[in-house]
Amino acid sequence: MGKPTGFKEYPRKTVPYRDPVARVGDFLEIFTPPLEDHLKNQGARCMDCGVPFCQSATGCPIDNLIPEWNDLVYRGRWRDALDRLHKTNNFPEFTGRTCPAPCEGACVLGITDPAVTIKNIENAIVDRGFAEGWIVPEPPPKRTGKKVAIIGSGPSGLAAAAQLNKVGHSVTVYERADRIGGLLMYGIPNMKLDKGVVQRRINLLKEEGVNFVTSADVGNKQSPGYVDPQKLHDENDAVLLCTGATRPNDLTIPGRGLDGIYFAMQFLTANTKSLLDGQHADGKYISAKDKDVIVIGGGDTGTDCIGTSMRHRCKSLVNFELLPQPPETRAPDNPWPQWPRTYRTDYGHQEVAAKFGADPRTYCVMSKEFVSDDNGGVAGIRTVQVDWTKDDAGKWKLHEIAGSDKFWPAQLVLLAMGFKGPEQYLAEMLGIAVDPRTNYQAVHGKFATSIPKVFAAGDCRRGQSLVVWAINEGRGAARAVDEFLMGTSDLAAPGVTLGLVRN
Ligand SMILES: Cc1cc2nc3c(=O)[nH]c(=O)nc-3n(C[C@H](O)[C@H](O)[C@H](O)COP(=O)(O)OP(=O)(O)OC[C@H]3O[C@@H](n4cnc5c(N)ncnc54)[C@H](O)[C@@H]3O)c2cc1C
Ligand code: SF4
Repeated sequence: MGKPTGFKEYPRKTVPYRDPVARVGDFLEIFTPPLEDHLKNQGARCMDCGVPFCQSATGCPIDNLIPEWNDLVYRGRWRDALDRLHKTNNFPEFTGRTCPAPCEGACVLGITDPAVTIKNIENAIVDRGFAEGWIVPEPPPKRTGKKVAIIGSGPSGLAAAAQLNKVGHSVTVYERADRIGGLLMYGIPNMKLDKGVVQRRINLLKEEGVNFVTSADVGNKQSPGYVDPQKLHDENDAVLLCTGATRPNDLTIPGRGLDGIYFAMQFLTANTKSLLDGQHADGKYISAKDKDVIVIGGGDTGTDCIGTSMRHRCKSLVNFELLPQPPETRAPDNPWPQWPRTYRTDYGHQEVAAKFGADPRTYCVMSKEFVSDDNGGVAGIRTVQVDWTKDDAGKWKLHEIAGSDKFWPAQLVLLAMGFKGPEQYLAEMLGIAVDPRTNYQAVHGKFATSIPKVFAAGDCRRGQSLVVWAINEGRGAARAVDEFLMGTSDLAAPGVTLGLVRN
């Protein structure tokens, strides 16, 4: 373990973000570089609790060996810490930056004290590994002669590609976008995950022998990049679908057809593409500059719309939430080690508060109508306040509060209300069964779809989730595919090491 008395000596201290007023002036990452002593002290807080819930049960979905690398960081053994980290996580630089850290919610120290800063330590280990030049391509010593096609290049597809390539299969990843990375590239904005960091890992995978084909829209006959899925099925020994859950929920209230109302992903994708293509010089993005912006819906997507609008220099920003404000501390029905459903202030909220003087979130607000500016554009939203009560069966019901009508001005409205399953054209073309939520039907752990030799993993199988769950699924599916191809597999997969089943 780290220092036996570490958790008594050192308070929890996270690595600070850059100053919010300064950082909204650019799209560079929000993080500051951590100091070595800071991390050592934080690693020393890990108390060798015996049953590390952080890496099991409701903790880390990929079984990261957290107490081991906390201890190694405390002792200054960074290289060993990196090797332990890579045993369970192909991409710690992605999770270290973006993961909401369910591990910290399950940290045993968290029962009485603030949890260990696990995510910061994870990120520091991998960043140090790259800085020291310890992370180099490791191509497989020999090839098996088996061919696998992976459709979709988000974290699930990339994790599966890394694992299958490692055991010698020839892997080709097909991606319909012009850049590889899925939501790592065109969802999560640059200030939260620098695209150079994503590209660096993709380059390593290329050097290890993974093939990537961009602008390849598998199964979409309307697309200029159409690729025939049946051909991929015939020419490969296995096909893995990692197409994500990309169909957004809409808000079909009066006025929805007005100009200036966009899905979050239209806004975020165009912004990142234009940024990467030439620092926004082409103007091919939806600008929030000098506009009153309303973001409808919270979560990571809503926060990223807020952060991006702030960087465009919007005039004002409001974030509507239909649900009530979460409690400051765990509610009685949300005990440790569950993920704490508590009130959190994310980077975008912090930036609005710093620039405009107040947190942008407003709760229990229901949008009733988009109001026109009489010129085809949106001028604002008419809302009512709602109240949530439980009915006799214990189900939450909402009621509109009479007389609570309000008009909110907006020239730009961004809809960030979650996602349905994957687009259906690929499932339809291949004849794959889908579940009631329209995700590809495949059991976690087996990942096999209803069509022989076709597997599915990530958001397209489990529904919109997290980067760390996509890595869990990619690693698990790689093992299932390897077993299918070779009869047996030595690939590590989440749950297998600890004998846990999570889905
Ligand atoms: C705006 C936003 C912010 C988020 N922020 C966070 C965060 O901070 N932390 C976190 O943990 N999670 C976050 N998430 C969730 C996380 O990004 C996803 O859960 C994760 O990326 C899912 O990975 P995936 O590989 O299953 O799919 P995706 O990342 O969605 O990748 C799927 C890929 O498949 C491609 N594709 C689809 N169909 C085809 C086809 N027919 N042919 C070829 N290619 C195809 C798509 O273009 C896409 O590139 C965020 C999500 C969004 C939308
Ligand atoms: S991947 Fe997420 S849950 Fe796992 S150790 Fe890292 S921050 Fe924690």
